[in-house]
Amino acid sequence: MKAIVLFGSPGSGKGTQAKLLTECLGLPHVSTGEMLREGIRQGAGVDAAVAAIMHAGSLVSDQVVEAMVEERLGRPDAAKGFVLDGYPRTLAQARHLAGWLEGRGIREVVIHLAVDYNIIIARLTGRRECPRCGTSYNVAFHPPKVDELCDLDGEKLAIREDDREAVIRQRLDAYEGQTRPVLEYLRTARGRVVEVDASNDPPESVYRKIRQALEN
Ligand code: ADP
Repeated sequence: MKAIVLFGSPGSGKGTQAKLLTECLGLPHVSTGEMLREGIRQGAGVDAAVAAIMHAGSLVSDQVVEAMVEERLGRPDAAKGFVLDGYPRTLAQARHLAGWLEGRGIREVVIHLAVDYNIIIARLTGRRECPRCGTSYNVAFHPPKVDELCDLDGEKLAIREDDREAVIRQRLDAYEGQTRPVLEYLRTARGRVVEVDASNDPPESVYRKIRQALEN
């Protein structure tokens, strides 16, 4: 059983690394942000209040997210393991997850993607995504060949609703206030936190460091 938790601030590259890991290891990618956005798109399960919280850059309630994750981890495709991305994000969520794992005799590995604050801001403000195929770009670090159009299907690129500047600030505040303390909890109470410097290296090198850490 491989329980991997990708931990890091918004814009630290959790989503990118989670995709690489899940493809290589054949494990499901459990992203609470993606699940919530998908719920909003389908208009099912996630109500307007949750959407409003996300658009403001604040954290959705623990109960909503915990129930969603528990249901997801109970599905058959997660029986051999999973990669958690964006969860746990509060101390309550971390304790809830610890209880769930302990009840099953599983020990998680936490990968902390550490990224310099200024780089985080540049990454988040430059982030674009193709609404059709989901390919990610960044106007500063990884621009499309033609401005604002997807290389693969020519679709006009979109900015995520919560990547506007005021909202980015709120997301980073939520990270500092509610999520960073979780790291200390994971270090002291759970034990296995691997530090990966993810500031300057391209995604493939960060990924190599993660694989190395997982093998050790
Ligand atoms: P990022 O890490 O770049 O902020 P995510 O896609 O992980 O992006 O999350 C987007 C939004 O979804 C968050 O700002 C928050 O509103 C909500 N969210 C995601 N995961 C959680 C969680 N574990 N607890 C509470 N809210 C969450």
